[in-house]
Amino acid sequence: MTLLNLQESICYGPVSSRRLGCSLGVNILPFNYKLCSLNCVYCQYGWTEECRLRAGRRTRGLPSPEEVSQSLRKCLATLKERGVTPPYITFSGNGEPTLHPQFERIVRAVREIRDELAPDALVAVLSNSTTVTSEGVRRALELCDVRIMKVDCGDAETFGSYNRPCRGVTLKDILEGLKKLSRFTVQTLFTDRNSSDDLVEEWVKVIGELRPSDVQIYSLDRASPCPELEAMSKDRLRQIALRLEEASGIRAAVY
Ligand code: SF4
Repeated sequence: MTLLNLQESICYGPVSSRRLGCSLGVNILPFNYKLCSLNCVYCQYGWTEECRLRAGRRTRGLPSPEEVSQSLRKCLATLKERGVTPPYITFSGNGEPTLHPQFERIVRAVREIRDELAPDALVAVLSNSTTVTSEGVRRALELCDVRIMKVDCGDAETFGSYNRPCRGVTLKDILEGLKKLSRFTVQTLFTDRNSSDDLVEEWVKVIGELRPSDVQIYSLDRASPCPELEAMSKDRLRQIALRLEEASGIRAAVY
């Protein structure tokens, strides 16, 4: 298994994703480095080159809203000519999409283009949840049809060693922010580092408090920057899903 290469364009795919099926990716992050507020030990793109919670308009390599619109319009028009409509248009790619300082403006533009060229597609976002503390980001997230928010653990210590946040990010703030979102899906990647019985109990407690509309759990299917990391079996993931359902009534889908 090898690490994934960074996306070298704004639109990529459609790709076949484990959790969304067919999805057209929209990468609003730089092409030549990963910009993220976390540095997860399992990240398929390798270690984070720039780990920070705020990106300004001067952050190198960020595409402008106009460039994003142009690229999406072109891509959807080409797909339409081929008779393809992706079920999802998904913000994902080289880091955390909500770090883009004009994220809200971009989401509005993407929705407009979707309405025009692919009205059946849903606009989705894969987010690491670190920016939900910001009212502006929450407003933009609420404009997406599907919000898939990362919560890998329920305790600050594991969060620190597993997700390796940049300065200024705390699990407590993330959980408070998530409680202010109207409806969202939780995504959790389990490996040997966050799946002991004790750690799963902490996670179950937190998910029970957050009351997401649904939960997606999965394990590694690509290389990670930390070679000692171990993937979890489907059986272990099913046990975790069962424990969540017993404790909170919330169902988790295993991928
Ligand atoms: S949040 Fe996503 S992009 Fe950022 S380091 Fe973690 S896995 Fe990688």
